[in-house]
Amino acid sequence: QAKSRGKDQIVVFDEAMAGSAEQRMDDEIALARAITEEQLTLHYQPIIGLDTGRPVSAEALVRWHRPGHGMQAPDRFIPMAEDSGLIIDLGRWVLHQACRDAAAWPDRAPAMADATVSVNVSARQLTHPRFLADLQSALAESGLPPERLILEITETALISAPEAAMETLHAVRACGVQLALDDFGTGYSSLSYVQKLPASILKIDKSFVDPISGPGAGTALSEVVIKLAEAIGMRTVAEGVESPEQATALRLLGCHRGQGYTWSRPVPNAELQDAAMRLAGAADVPQPAS
Ligand code: C2E
Ligand code: MG
Ligand code: MG
Ligand code: MG
Repeated sequence: QAKSRGKDQIVVFDEAMAGSAEQRMDDEIALARAITEEQLTLHYQPIIGLDTGRPVSAEALVRWHRPGHGMQAPDRFIPMAEDSGLIIDLGRWVLHQACRDAAAWPDRAPAMADATVSVNVSARQLTHPRFLADLQSALAESGLPPERLILEITETALISAPEAAMETLHAVRACGVQLALDDFGTGYSSLSYVQKLPASILKIDKSFVDPISGPGAGTALSEVVIKLAEAIGMRTVAEGVESPEQATALRLLGCHRGQGYTWSRPVPNAELQDAAMRLAGAADVPQPAS
């Protein structure tokens, strides 16, 4: 009896595994096609200078218009792309597209003419032997000045291959491209390690911003992070700022930049000019040539 139940369980287990493996295979094939068939698109979220209130940068965030499934957020497919290795092709597409888009902002979105563009880079992508060649070709093909490009990396990306990653990061800096440490405070890297990174920008994770309800209220941890960044000469960007009170509190703490729904959600590239104009809220912002 026990034996037959065991057998049943084995069958059930096998079917469940086969089902999920098959599903996974379908998802991977669909994502591989998405990369070549232009189902991916980039949305841009403005990043605001807290001193002036004007947009100074925008982060490229990938979306997948998956046929029959609607628009997929990156959390639904980036982990799969990382596990399967598709992140190499996907990341290369994102890098090229973001450079092309930003290179055209002076004509197509003049309110962002001088703005930098931030691109997220996965660990596996950063440590891939062709990464630097891809970066250089994205810059050369688009004509984007390297100073207008920022690569966002996470602490976890660096922990998995610290030495190889560090070498690549120095080469990136040598190209004139800037580096930002994303989601700071969610990883486990030591402060001495962070200090050794050639990154000039530290992005304060949303989890530090969430508890802030106004100046002096819930600011203890973000204050420590801003002071730390100041001490090691890094500029700060607060992520996930959802209220004007949070924005004011962060500005008073000396945070340089903010990003979040209080200013703008990520928008398609074609809507970035309007979003930036609204944010700048000033008549002297140049209009696109028609
Ligand atoms: P991230 O790099 O930390 O990007 C910020 C995320 O926070 C974005 O989510 C953005 O839409 C969201 N966000 C911004 N402001 C607010 C706010 O005020 N409130 C809330 N609740 N959320 C806010 P998204 O676009 O879903 O991206 C999620 C993550 O996926 C990104 O986190 C990044 O790690 C990854 N990702 C996105 N695009 C790419 C890409 O092209 N390559 C790679 N490797 N990863 C990407
Ligand atoms: Mg990011
Ligand atoms: Mg982030
Ligand atoms: Mg984050």
